[in-house]
Amino acid sequence: MADEYRTATVQGREVPYDPEQLRKISEHPCYSDKACHAFGRCHVPVAPKCNIQCNYCIRDFDCVNESRPGVTSRVLSPPEEALDLVRNVVREYPYVKVVGIAGPGEPLANPETFEALKLIHEEFPHLIMCISTNGLALPESIEELAKYDVGNVTVTLNAVDPAIGEKIYSWVEYDGKKYHGREAAELLLAQQMKGGIEMAVAKKMFVKINTVYIPPGINDEHIPEIAKKVGGEMGAFTFNVIPLIPQYKFAAITPPTPKEKREMQDRCEPYIKQMRHCARCRADAIGKLGQDVQSCVYQQMKDEKKE
Ligand code: SF4
Ligand code: SF4
Repeated sequence: MADEYRTATVQGREVPYDPEQLRKISEHPCYSDKACHAFGRCHVPVAPKCNIQCNYCIRDFDCVNESRPGVTSRVLSPPEEALDLVRNVVREYPYVKVVGIAGPGEPLANPETFEALKLIHEEFPHLIMCISTNGLALPESIEELAKYDVGNVTVTLNAVDPAIGEKIYSWVEYDGKKYHGREAAELLLAQQMKGGIEMAVAKKMFVKINTVYIPPGINDEHIPEIAKKVGGEMGAFTFNVIPLIPQYKFAAITPPTPKEKREMQDRCEPYIKQMRHCARCRADAIGKLGQDVQSCVYQQMKDEKKE
């Protein structure tokens, strides 16, 4: 393990990782580019609903904050089906060390997420538990996530300035009320920052930030500022620049090229470690990155049911 992983910088202080924490990096294919060749992840699709509307998302598909648009994952229901899936995967693919919930909507907006995490963690306490979220409900979910040993949290954060955020989100629904415009962006940002990311770092969770790169003039020039804020200042672990895939209200935008993405990552690198190997997985992806086996797993489960 490289020395860079031995300590975290949290609010300017060097904080040592304990061995269990180190495992959550060294065996997680998204947190370590070395781990991605040896270990796999199992996404458990139990969360169809979402509590916000991003202007680049058509809700017929998976949450594009984490996944490839145009892909519709199945939804496992009830959560016991999720446990069956994990049993199958652990038996057949022992290199899978991570169980993650990444959709197909917003995990924390679906009670089934917590039911599935509980069942899986009780039976497989050694598995690394991971979640991907837009952050709106993160503060009130932190304690429960910690109870199920969720140690890796991805937060999609597209702006640290509500004037920019309001260009990216149509609405936010919180506590039964719908918010629009600046108010919606302010509420989302407050929940993501002070509430969510700060609390997750304080709980020693590893926080990965996903930022959708939206040119021209939406958030592109703002991205290094996001990296600076969440990296050195807040103690997030890694930063994943995701080029926009144009759809819905941003359908007419020309997305950044791979070169522009690399240049953006280089601009952010001084502030926070860059994830450069993201595969934009489906919300039901299983296996090593780029070597998905979910079709085989689901087929096998179907066959077993018939027998
Ligand atoms: Fe779509 Fe995900 Fe945004 Fe919800 S959080 S609107 S599912 S991209
Ligand atoms: Fe990891 Fe990227 Fe796949 Fe998420 S979408 S599981 S961050 S490789």
